[in-house]
Amino acid sequence: MVVASLIERKRGGEALTASEWRELLLAYGADAVPDYQMAALLMAVFFQGLTAEELYTVTETMLHSSAGLSFDGWETPRVGKHSTGGVGDKTSIVLVPLLACCDVAVPMLSGRGLGHTGGTLDKLESIPGFRTGLSIEEAERQVRTLGCAMLGQSRDIAPIDRKLYALRDVTATIESIPLIAASIMSKKLAEGLNGLVLDVKTGSGAFMVDVEDALALAQTMIELGEAHGCRTTALLTAMDRPLGRAVGNALEIEECILTLQGEGPSDLVEVILALGSEMLLSAGVAGDRAEARGRLEDALASGKALERFAALIEAQGGNPAIIDDPAVLPQAEEIEVLEASAAGVVQSVEPRRIGLAVIELGGGRQRLDEDIDPSVGFVVSVKPGDRVAAGEAIASVFARDAEGIRAGRAALEEAIVIGEVGSLTPLISHRVTAAGTEVLEVT
Ligand code: URA
Repeated sequence: MVVASLIERKRGGEALTASEWRELLLAYGADAVPDYQMAALLMAVFFQGLTAEELYTVTETMLHSSAGLSFDGWETPRVGKHSTGGVGDKTSIVLVPLLACCDVAVPMLSGRGLGHTGGTLDKLESIPGFRTGLSIEEAERQVRTLGCAMLGQSRDIAPIDRKLYALRDVTATIESIPLIAASIMSKKLAEGLNGLVLDVKTGSGAFMVDVEDALALAQTMIELGEAHGCRTTALLTAMDRPLGRAVGNALEIEECILTLQGEGPSDLVEVILALGSEMLLSAGVAGDRAEARGRLEDALASGKALERFAALIEAQGGNPAIIDDPAVLPQAEEIEVLEASAAGVVQSVEPRRIGLAVIELGGGRQRLDEDIDPSVGFVVSVKPGDRVAAGEAIASVFARDAEGIRAGRAALEEAIVIGEVGSLTPLISHRVTAAGTEVLEVT
């Protein structure tokens, strides 16, 4: 294999063969191909894309670069969910214990926050003692006994993707539909799932800002999932404003607890019920959407989902006392309330600005090895289209010090625009399956 000639062919728009891709990726995983050649190839893929056959081979090779989770001989259906990333997106933390109460098991691999988006692992690690670094064996055992586990991608899960993702992150090759699809699906298919639901975010705070790109990404991932025998569905959900009210690690955990207690913000609850219903349908344990939704609502109302969350925290070394006393979570030193400067209608609550401000406050990272402060962030209580009075409290900043409060206020003043008119785009705009795309317009 002459890597330079593979790069040249891909750069010229030619498809590489399945055996060329396999050999190349396995050699890269074994450190036999240098980063500079792989970076050049990734950039060629960024501009030229991958054919369906190339995409399948790249995903397969990354998926089988380790064993992944295995539940051979176990009857309970396993379902997964993946979000393409957003601001205030804490749905997995509620969905995992909730679904585990509904006759399915949820082995959930999650990621860290990167760029302006938050990460489920960082949020979970704000719970004192919570351990996300489970081994494959620990995760398999916990899923069989508790019905769920939440862990990070270790060296034992799709290691070639892990190495490639780090390279893409520093070579401006993340935002490529085939590369994102292969990366996400190589990890999701390593969870040993029967069904998968994708939450593909669109809007100014999403990686796929345009609906057309989000639909293309959804369709690409669905084809990969179905080709591997995993029933895959996608919902396109709005990320032109934060999801829920809280943005920031410990603040989001507190909002998850409220949601499991039946008091979550309506947009967050709606996305959770919609994704959860699709998960139950994809596992074949509910006959229709109304039945699926009813089961989820019962598990929330009965307190069973909250109990399962406490059991999950305990099983992974965390302190379940946070459920009755959120003050056990890390607390910000300084809190300040922002009031509307004038009466009017909220025009926008810009999620990207708020997500970046969490990093400025110390709550997110720009490099994967940075430490974060889990206590900082924002609670934003308005959405586009809301009417506000002058002086009305619209948001709060949670910071380490006065400088953080100043930076946080400045970010909120830029992000929240009040004018004369404003409206909310649909919260859930499309449902995509192997059979086609439906327009939903759920608000
Ligand atoms: N998340 C992933 O796991 N991979 C990508 O390429 C993008 C988001």
